Amino acid sequence: MNKPVVIHWFRKGLRLHDNPALLSALEKVGESHYELRPVFILDPWFVKHARVGPNRWRFLIQSLQDLDNNLKKIGSRLFVVKGSPLEGFKKLFKEWNVKKLTFEVDIEPYAKIRDEEIKQLAEKHSVTVITKVSHTIYDLEQVFKANGNKAPLTYVKFQSVVAKFGTPEKALDAPGNLPKQCQTLLLSEDYNVPLLEEMRVDLTGLGKELFPGGESEALIRLNKYMNQQEWVCKFSKPDTSPNSIEPSTTVLSPYLKFGCLSSRLMYHRIHDVIAGRKHTSPPTSLTGQLLWREFYYTCGAYVPNFDRMEGNPICKQIPWKKDPEDKHYLAWKDGKTGYPFIDAIMTQLRTEGWIHHLARHAVACFLTRGDLWVSWELGQQVFEELLLDADWSLNAGNWMWLSASAFFHQYFRVYSPIAFGKKTDKHGDYIKKYLPVLKKFPSEYIYEPWKAPLSVQQKAGCIIGKDYPKRIVEHEIAVKENLAKMKEAYQGHKEEGPEKEIAKRKKAPSKDSSPKITKFLKKK
Ligand code: FAD
Repeated sequence: MNKPVVIHWFRKGLRLHDNPALLSALEKVGESHYELRPVFILDPWFVKHARVGPNRWRFLIQSLQDLDNNLKKIGSRLFVVKGSPLEGFKKLFKEWNVKKLTFEVDIEPYAKIRDEEIKQLAEKHSVTVITKVSHTIYDLEQVFKANGNKAPLTYVKFQSVVAKFGTPEKALDAPGNLPKQCQTLLLSEDYNVPLLEEMRVDLTGLGKELFPGGESEALIRLNKYMNQQEWVCKFSKPDTSPNSIEPSTTVLSPYLKFGCLSSRLMYHRIHDVIAGRKHTSPPTSLTGQLLWREFYYTCGAYVPNFDRMEGNPICKQIPWKKDPEDKHYLAWKDGKTGYPFIDAIMTQLRTEGWIHHLARHAVACFLTRGDLWVSWELGQQVFEELLLDADWSLNAGNWMWLSASAFFHQYFRVYSPIAFGKKTDKHGDYIKKYLPVLKKFPSEYIYEPWKAPLSVQQKAGCIIGKDYPKRIVEHEIAVKENLAKMKEAYQGHKEEGPEKEIAKRKKAPSKDSSPKITKFLKKK
């Protein structure tokens, strides 16, 4: 009989540090250890059909390569198994003498179903299954229970619930050199991490690689930011910029999404930095950002149909346009709306895979209630494909927020696709970087090139309507029409609507509401 084996199944949680399920795979059983076989399952169906752009494939493969290297350093390796999880485990349970299976809890609905299937299969093969919570700081089931078996639906409520739990437990260390009996003996190349070329991932069209995947890179990036004590203490999200040339926030999101970085480690590192010093507080502080993540994760775990409008009890039912061939939607997706701020953001998203939070606000508002009246679900799909950090709960939750479908109800606060970007980038350097066709445009017209006289366009070498699109809608008109439609949709939900708030203000929404937004953002 082959040596008894324990499989640690990596899905998210692509790291060695703070990985309680991996550590439990290494625990002694009686007097001895099992041989460790860390597995990642790459489903060919997923490779072909999932909404994952080339940037995120690259990030994932790099993360797996890094994981494999780090495992090799401690006497193990990664086994990449091709097939569906069910087929994969059927094969492994047959071929290897598997006694134990460990993995991290995943709250996403499809993952819960998948994991249940694997648990049942394991039971049939007398394989013990151990699961641990480590993708989030808090155990979301505990949050749910502590809130009377409901997801807390506001950030403040969420904070009050988790306050009862006290300080989160410290992050665990990565395992050191494995005891001899745990070390991985099977060296077959059949299970090597595939190369991007083998997967036929087409990288043409991508920009410079700015955020390589993997735990090693995540820890370097975390250290880089945590070494900037003053920056961490003063961090306040609304004061960061959507259109700076260098990112004004950490860009740790892709690493948190794939679990290359533990959120618990990040939480404690921030707290070590701010301890005993004057610092900002949630919701705007850096800790506050991590709590937004926990908040949306809890909602995602417990609100039915969280990623769609229909059947989602917290989502306003709004008659959005839902045609994936809609020409306005396609123009938005391709960065061809004729609004340079919007198009620059969408170009950064497609080529680099990360955009600032407020840039996400601007394009999400533009697509939905601001200008184009297109469903947030279609916007969510584009983000799902193109973001390096595409994260099921966070993506859905934030899209609902921005479209004023849930969580946020002041639908009359609309971002101007012209004035908002100007506040932090008067001369449009960001636009010029991502839309070089406009690089010779004078600052005066860079946010509204359609206003430039023909002579100016000729001098800049860019004719609007020929070299760069004419704007697809007139913001001033679209915003008024959409506000009326939002009002109507909200009237169908009087009990939750912002009518009282509107009555208090007794003011028509201004054409350009971005100054008001700054005030509101101070709260976020
Ligand atoms: P930092 O400001 O450095 O924050 C640190 C971490 O806190 C982030 O990495 C992230 O994990 C968490 N965080 C910050 N802001 C939020 C937030 N509003 N909600 C939840 N968690 C937050 N974030 C994703 O990670 N994946 C997504 O798919 C995603 N989709 C979004 C869609 C829309 C329409 C909007 C408006 C926001 C979305 N966000 C998403 C949230 C946010 O924009 C990103 O988390 C953030 O910009 C990542 O950059 P950062 O790591 O530099 O953030």
